[in-house]
Amino acid sequence: MDQEVGTTKRTKNYFMETILVLAHTENDGSLTKPVREALHAAATLHKSIAGSKLVVGLIGENVQTAANSIAACPATKYFGVTGVEFSQSRYATDAAVAEAICKAAAATVVVAPATSRWARVLPGVAQRLGGRADTHVTGVAAADGKISVNRWFYKQRMEGALTRTQRPWFLGIDPGSQTPCDCGAGTASVEMVTVNLTDASKRTIVVGIREPKADAQTIRPDAQLLFVTGAGWTKKQADGQTHVPEAEKLILGFLKVSRASLGSSKSLVDLGGEGQAVLPFLSHLNQVGQTGATPRHAKGLSTCCHGEEPHTVGWRFIGERRAISLDPNCGWARGKADVLYVADAFAVIAKVNALLAANP
Ligand SMILES: Cc1cc2nc3c(=O)[nH]c(=O)nc-3n(C[C@H](O)[C@H](O)[C@H](O)COP(=O)(O)OP(=O)(O)OC[C@H]3O[C@@H](n4cnc5c(N)ncnc54)[C@H](O)[C@@H]3O)c2cc1C
Repeated sequence: MDQEVGTTKRTKNYFMETILVLAHTENDGSLTKPVREALHAAATLHKSIAGSKLVVGLIGENVQTAANSIAACPATKYFGVTGVEFSQSRYATDAAVAEAICKAAAATVVVAPATSRWARVLPGVAQRLGGRADTHVTGVAAADGKISVNRWFYKQRMEGALTRTQRPWFLGIDPGSQTPCDCGAGTASVEMVTVNLTDASKRTIVVGIREPKADAQTIRPDAQLLFVTGAGWTKKQADGQTHVPEAEKLILGFLKVSRASLGSSKSLVDLGGEGQAVLPFLSHLNQVGQTGATPRHAKGLSTCCHGEEPHTVGWRFIGERRAISLDPNCGWARGKADVLYVADAFAVIAKVNALLAANP
C-alpha cells in the first residue's frame, strides 16, 4: 500500500521538519527501552532529512535525570513538563502536555513509543492539532526529504507503507521493532513548558495501581524467549490421567530458570471459563494469536499446543520457532516451526529444567 493523504500543499523540498520525540519518565526518573527505540527512529529520520531539527519533550515528576541520560543524542532542544500531577498516566493531563509541547516545539513530526500511556493519547492530540496519527509503526525512512513509514493494520496481519502530507504527523513506534539508541549521558538544558490544567482535566484521580507481584508477572516483553503453553498440558496423558499440578510445577519452574515470557493458546486460557482444571497463572492476556497478542521475541518455544493458524499467526514476529508436540502431523510440522520435537513435553521440560538449574 502506498498512499499519500492530507491537505497541506507540498512543493519540492517539502517541509522543514521538526521531529519531536515524546517520552514519559518512570517513577525513578529513568527512560525505558521503548523510549530509546523511538529516539532511534526519530534520529534516523533526522539524519536522512537535510535541514530537519530533532527535539525531545519529556513529561514526569522530574525530567532532568532523564534528559541528562540522553544528552549526547543529536537533539538540539529539550522541552519538559514537570509536577506531581504529571507523574501518572491520565488521558486529560497527558493530552494537555503533549499538545503544549507540540505547540512549543512547532513539531511537524511527533515520534513516541507506543506504550499504553502514549497509545491512548496520541490520536486525540493529533485531532486537536489538525494532524494525523499512525499506530503500530515499525519502520521509518526518508528520501529526498519525503518521509515514509511502515505500519501494521488489522491485528498486525497486513503491513502497509505510506506517506502523508498532513502535519503534525504522529507516529506510535511499536516497542521491540527498533534498535534502541545508545546515546550517552551528559548535561541537558531543559526548557520548561507551562501547562494550564482545567479543573475537568484533574477530575480523574489516580488512587493507586493494582498489578501482579513482580514474581507473578509472567508477561515479559523484553525476554529473549516466548514460552507458549497449549491445552495439551491439561489433557489426559498416556496413563489416562490428567496431570495439571505437575504441569503447573514444570511451567513455573521453566519460567523461573529461563526468565521467558509466558504465552498461551486460546484453548488453554478459555478452559477456565468452562470450569475445567486450569493453570491459575494464565489469563487471556497471555493469549497469542489472531484474537490475542502478537509479541516480539528473538525465539519461541511452543509446548502441548497444536499450532493451528489462528494461533501461529500471532508468532509472525518471533525469530526462531520451536515446538514440542506429541502429534507429528500438528500445525507446527506443516511449516509453522523451524524445529519440531515430536516428544512428551512433560518429560522434555522436566529434563530442561534440571539442566538449566544445574547450569544457571
Ligand atoms: C476466530 C478464531 C480465532 C481464534 N483465535 C485464536 C488465538 O488468538 N489464539 C489461539 O491460540 N487460538 C485461537 N483460535 C483457536 C485455534 O484455532 C485452536 O483451537 C487453538 O489454538 C488450539 O489450542 P491448543 O493447540 O492449545 O489445543 P489443542 O488443539 O487441544 O492441541 C493440544 C496439543 O497438545 C498436544 N499434547 C498433548 N499432550 C502432550 C504432551 N504431553 N506433550 C506434547 N504435546 C502434547 C496434542 O498432541 C495436541 O496437538 C481461534 C479460533 C477461531 C475460530
